Amino acid sequence: MECKKCNSKNYIKKGLRDNKQRFYCKNCQRYFQSDYTYQAYKSETNKFISTLLKESCGVRSIARILNISNKTVLSRMLKISKQIKIPYFNKFGCKFEVDEIFIRIGNKDVRNYLTYAIEQNTKNVISFTVGSRNTENLRFVIDKILLLHPKRIYTDKLNIYPTIIPKEIHKRFQYCTNRIERMNLNLRTHIKRLSRKTICFTRNQKYLEAHLKIYFWG
Ligand SMILES: [Zn+2]
Repeated sequence: MECKKCNSKNYIKKGLRDNKQRFYCKNCQRYFQSDYTYQAYKSETNKFISTLLKESCGVRSIARILNISNKTVLSRMLKISKQIKIPYFNKFGCKFEVDEIFIRIGNKDVRNYLTYAIEQNTKNVISFTVGSRNTENLRFVIDKILLLHPKRIYTDKLNIYPTIIPKEIHKRFQYCTNRIERMNLNLRTHIKRLSRKTICFTRNQKYLEAHLKIYFWG
């Protein structure tokens, strides 16, 4: 047996809990057991959760597959997303596409959107925001792109864009956002939270943001 946290063999028996032998690792100074009653203690749980979240599994189905509780899945989701570092895109002069897709969060009378931007060739997601389709939210995404000195920004015909994107680099015509429209379909297929007419998830915004972060950058 090895230490579950650091794989060292430098450990001793120390203490009992619920009649189970506990071990103390002298290398990382932490305690562990050879097996756990609580399944979520296993070190690969987080990896499974983030993989299953990208394969269109709902929270309850993940809980059933891994034999852990719903609440653990939700809290781990937030924990995993907090640890993700957003990769820094540092190529200048690229072409970007921006689009919004309709999502259901919060009150059902409010129309909310996921607005996000991708680079055309690599399809890297530069930035995203969740909320209503107003100037403030769109500007959050657009400003991130403008920092990269874009060659072009392609958008749909929403009338807010011309007010926040310089005219020389802004293009909007039919078919110019094909790539991001295709990606919208991927998102709806791969993320259970974005599929329509399901009862599989909470409508809480923080969980959706965590899920998207794991999908885009995790
Ligand atoms: Zn250790």
